[in-house]
Amino acid sequence: MKIPALVTPGQALSVDEARRYSRHVVVPHISAIGQQRLKGAKVICVGAGGLGSPALMYLAAAGVGTLGIVDFDTVDESNLARQIIHGQSDIGKSKVQSAISKIAEINPLIKTVAHEVRLDTSNVMEIFSDYDLIIDGTDNFATRYLINDACVLLGKPYVWGSVLRFDGQASVFWTAHGPCYRCLHPEPSGDIPNCAEAGVLGILCASIASIQVTEAIKIIIGIGEPLVGSLMTFDALTMDYRKVTVLKDPQCVICGINPTQKALLTDYESFCSTPKEESINVVELKLKMDSGDDFMLVDVREPHEFDIVRIPGSVLIPLSQFLDGSALANLPRDKAIILHCRSGVRSATALEILKTAGFSDSTHVEGGVIAWAQQIDTTCTVY
Ligand SMILES: [Zn+2]
Repeated sequence: MKIPALVTPGQALSVDEARRYSRHVVVPHISAIGQQRLKGAKVICVGAGGLGSPALMYLAAAGVGTLGIVDFDTVDESNLARQIIHGQSDIGKSKVQSAISKIAEINPLIKTVAHEVRLDTSNVMEIFSDYDLIIDGTDNFATRYLINDACVLLGKPYVWGSVLRFDGQASVFWTAHGPCYRCLHPEPSGDIPNCAEAGVLGILCASIASIQVTEAIKIIIGIGEPLVGSLMTFDALTMDYRKVTVLKDPQCVICGINPTQKALLTDYESFCSTPKEESINVVELKLKMDSGDDFMLVDVREPHEFDIVRIPGSVLIPLSQFLDGSALANLPRDKAIILHCRSGVRSATALEILKTAGFSDSTHVEGGVIAWAQQIDTTCTVY
């Protein structure tokens, strides 16, 4: 997919810049205009760690005019085997300040901006709004979903990368031209370990960061075909680079046809730490009914199905009303919500929407009406 240049050219190159970037300028695809676009570009890198270190060094060397760096951590000895922007004498210093002093040594002609904060819902929109493109050098799901959602809402390209042991992945999420991170991963995978737990081959960070910076440069200048709608995977043991297509998900909660999420979540940490496959079985449902628990039982099937058979006490709200968001206004936020359908598939979809919309006390019934008819009330019609 060809995409027009993201950045308009900055001022003409100075004599020093023309000399420094001469190997870029002689490449026909780049030329002086492309280098001026890099000069005019504002790129922010979230994290000055494994991916952020090589990414920042190459962004600086390439002449990206303004480089923002977000990190709140300090340099630790265990970082040095892969976070190559930091050195022995930086141990104990702020990663942002360490990175800025190294960048000044690599290329004094560019501007750096320090963001020594923990990126969260309260600051991400203001920080990102000053930049053209966001590079993700982080290692946790909460920050990835935060970055993705902010980029979707701001309409900015999100250059994502991830490393673990010998495997790396990279993609560009940009809803103006393709899918977002949630289209690829609608829900956080809580069982995937991070690099601190599972380890990573240090040099793999350079492989993936170099792909991220290559993508950033292509997007800024408007050349080639960026990884929009493609996921690149890399296996360092076999040296296999593969590309798989990622389609935009029409049901995506933030970039789909009827998005239900129209703002940032208030707390990404809890979004990523809550188990997503929450369900109860029909026996547990019956126990809750018999013990007089206070909850709302919602049937997400269609009216004609509701007419055939229903679980006592259930209220009909078809799945379509969850998908278009209209159901949410009529649901209580101070009461448990239990969803069910015929077999448990539609109710799982509705539950996902509820969880994303912040209805934390919600669950669905495994096996739905069919399980109810088989295990609780065998006089019910099964259809
Ligand atoms: Zn999406």
